[in-house]
Amino acid sequence: MRWPESPSTATSWICPTSAEGAGGSGCPTTGSLASMEVQAATERRSTRQLMVGDVPVGGGAPITVQSMTITRTADHEATLQQIYDLAMAGADIVRCTCNDLEAAEGLARIVPRSPVPIVADIHHQYRMALAALEAGVHCLRLNPGNIRKPEHIRVVASEARDRGVPIRIGVNGGSLHPDLYEKHGGRVTPEAMVESALDEIRFFEDVDFDLIKISVKASSVPIMVEAYRQLSEVTDYPLHLGVTEAGPPPAGLIKSSAGIGALLAQGIGDTIRYSLTADPVEEARAGRALLEAMGLRERKNVDLIACPSCGRAEIDVVAVAADAMAAFADREIPLQVAIMGCVVNGPGEARDADLGIAAGNRRGHLFVKGRNVAVVAEDEMVDALVEWAEMIHSEGVEAALARVDIEKAAREAERDRQRLLAQQGDDVDDTGTRIELIRRHGA
Ligand code: SF4
Repeated sequence: MRWPESPSTATSWICPTSAEGAGGSGCPTTGSLASMEVQAATERRSTRQLMVGDVPVGGGAPITVQSMTITRTADHEATLQQIYDLAMAGADIVRCTCNDLEAAEGLARIVPRSPVPIVADIHHQYRMALAALEAGVHCLRLNPGNIRKPEHIRVVASEARDRGVPIRIGVNGGSLHPDLYEKHGGRVTPEAMVESALDEIRFFEDVDFDLIKISVKASSVPIMVEAYRQLSEVTDYPLHLGVTEAGPPPAGLIKSSAGIGALLAQGIGDTIRYSLTADPVEEARAGRALLEAMGLRERKNVDLIACPSCGRAEIDVVAVAADAMAAFADREIPLQVAIMGCVVNGPGEARDADLGIAAGNRRGHLFVKGRNVAVVAEDEMVDALVEWAEMIHSEGVEAALARVDIEKAAREAERDRQRLLAQQGDDVDDTGTRIELIRRHGA
């Protein structure tokens, strides 16, 4: 299995809102939800390509998602189960620690049965790198801060070269060589990290080894972003992006997304890893979701968008969106699906979504590409969305539309819309009255 086709969980997209502007014809959202999805427009930096097993990295290949097992590698059955879980969640490449001979033996059992290429993480013993190569791993990861003797680096590079196995040079801000640390003012700087990476590259190039990927990770997002940016200007080896020790979600997710996303938006980066203090499945899901959100990988499953709710909402939008996330989580339906709190503004605001539903008068109004297609009971909204999503996915929009009375659905939606406007008025948040009072204060 070269590209795991199984989806990560559905991603959500919540529309922004502001009080001003709420009215009969305008949602608090500031524009069409779907049209705000950002597509990657930046040209990607040109890099060399290498193969990690059968997965290409760099050279214009799709950006890949990596994660790391947290089982004992020696427990090969438990580790394989986690590798399968990670592949199902969106990981293209998985790393396992190789910290002792038992782990290396575990790798020998894992590699032939793994659904994705395996990278061995080598700590302080260069001999573990040689053992991992014997186990048949598809890539090594070395930290220049841990394996420092040039003769050890060279022997590993020579052995990897003869087997055609790439190596990631993984510089970490927290384990910089003491000399570099001192040279750069006793602190971690982007310049010190780049210098460490370039020093290490030289050892490998000295033995004609160029199957190199590089990472310069730091727990500080600004330092990490600047280190990668500088590195991308002086080398064309593929770059593995990540914020190290990002911590538990949500902060870890935010830091990782900020750092990795900022670089990807500049066209920098060939493979990514979220380093979360969480179940590694969350890392794989997050990595996949980021790439899909940035238009850098094809969408595999539903992109769930939803309004943020407001005074007009006819349903608990948060609860319905959560139910829909759960209902779509394991379905491979690459459609954008909208959940909108009211029929007054919902269908128009989410008109670019492939499919959506808006609440009104205890009913759900289904719409496809902004066109009302059906009315369902409020407690059947999520089931109806799933049914229609599957129908559109398997039969196409036109075939799905041919089954229903569009004009009747539009009349029903307009009737509920007018009812809500009559009940709530144009200014549901009372903004006009408030502004009038403020003006009187100023008079
Ligand atoms: Fe917009 Fe209606 Fe949602 Fe309020 S409830 S944010 S008006 S779609």
